Amino acid sequence: MTNILIIGAGIAGLAVARELYSHGFSVTILEARNRIGGRIYTNKKFGFPVDLGASWIHGINKNPITQLAQDFKVRIQHTDFENIPVYGSNGELVEVKELEKARLLYKQIFGQAKALGKNLKQDISVAEAIQRILIEKEFSPLQKTLMKWFFTGREVQEGTDLDSYSLWEWDEYATFSGGNYLITNGYEEIIQRLAKGIDIRLQQKVIEIKYDDKSVSVKTDSGTFSADAVVITLPLGVLKSASVTFSPPLPESKLAAIDRLDMGVLNKVVLKFSKVFWLQNYDAIGYASQMANDFSDFLNLSRYIKVPVLVALTGGRFARSLETLSEEEVGERVMKVLRRMYGNNIPNPEIVIRTQWAADPFACGSYLTMPIGAKASDRATLAAPVANRLLFAGEATSEQYPSTVHGAYLSGLREANRILNEFAV
Ligand SMILES: Cc1cc2nc3c(=O)[nH]c(=O)nc-3n(C[C@H](O)[C@H](O)[C@H](O)COP(=O)(O)OP(=O)(O)OC[C@H]3O[C@@H](n4cnc5c(N)ncnc54)[C@H](O)[C@@H]3O)c2cc1C
Repeated sequence: MTNILIIGAGIAGLAVARELYSHGFSVTILEARNRIGGRIYTNKKFGFPVDLGASWIHGINKNPITQLAQDFKVRIQHTDFENIPVYGSNGELVEVKELEKARLLYKQIFGQAKALGKNLKQDISVAEAIQRILIEKEFSPLQKTLMKWFFTGREVQEGTDLDSYSLWEWDEYATFSGGNYLITNGYEEIIQRLAKGIDIRLQQKVIEIKYDDKSVSVKTDSGTFSADAVVITLPLGVLKSASVTFSPPLPESKLAAIDRLDMGVLNKVVLKFSKVFWLQNYDAIGYASQMANDFSDFLNLSRYIKVPVLVALTGGRFARSLETLSEEEVGERVMKVLRRMYGNNIPNPEIVIRTQWAADPFACGSYLTMPIGAKASDRATLAAPVANRLLFAGEATSEQYPSTVHGAYLSGLREANRILNEFAV
């Protein structure tokens, strides 16, 4: 029987395992943490489900995660990010017509930036392209602030400041249509169902992978495992950190791709209150700050779980900088913004939970981002097998859908199929 090891019990590793298991392969997953799911992580410690990693199915039409949600009878609910109240830093609600004007400008500017990129011989950052376009235009102070809020929103989404994102690679990922849907009881529901029946060894931190053209040996901090082949779903950030040794070393081309690609950071701050004091009938709330780095977007989780919870979403350098503060300090910073919007009489949070995805040694960031110099072909290089014994899956290896749950899942199926085609049972 062909014996396959899988490193990592995130959605990519679970996708490989389930597919191979259903074809009669013997599979074992080695996972460093004391839980499965990786960057899918539902916290239920405080009596309500909140996702500290992925929350949404991005684009439900033809998305394989939608199919899983249907198969597993998991409840999903649409999130409308467009029809939301946005507050200025004076604490006043911005008029809808001003917001719509800024949205149109923002879309136009990104369109013009992409067009500019087509005529350049050298790549530049998205921020630089925007600056070149804006230099010729005049806007009211309010429009400037609102456009900045839209730009910040994209930085949160990408986990990267626009001055660190390649213009040529901007918006080049494939997407599914149909809007964003939140898994209301937590993404973990999908993970638990995928993991059913699979041999998963927790708290097995892989430290070394030895291979030749016949077999593989994987050393963890508590044992050694051998197999015919190994599927490595280590996050790009972990590969970049070189905390796992490869013997012999990975090919130069793969190391260079790992070097060029990068990890973005999206961090969340979850605040549970005694009551809802914000506008209840919207899925999210915006804050158009005057400051260079500030909170900008809040998910109104109470719409989904009927518990008074807001989740602040942060990205890029701001998200990274918050990781250096204590949980209390982070909570206080969010409260400053909420008091601007809702006054000084709002209650303090009963619970604050914040994420630190950059400092997490088994993630080293939230998901792939494309800095200047990185190319889509680097993701294919990252995905390429080595010596027919090391196979690679995970969101960053997805040519079409990186940075997403569905991209990670499909990359797992891709490698399972490679094994099915190349290794007889
Ligand atoms: C805050 C945040 C929000 C996100 N929001 C969304 C969203 O709404 N929608 C969406 O589609 N995507 C979202 N994503 C991205 C999505 O979560 C990831 O793309 C996806 O979960 C990655 O799956 P993976 O299997 O490739 O990697 P992972 O889930 O990271 O799995 C890799 C596994 O390897 C393990 N591992 C690491 N090092 C070792 C080692 N040395 N030995 C053994 N095991 C090891 C890790 O613990 C982990 O379990 C978000 C991510 C974050 C962080």
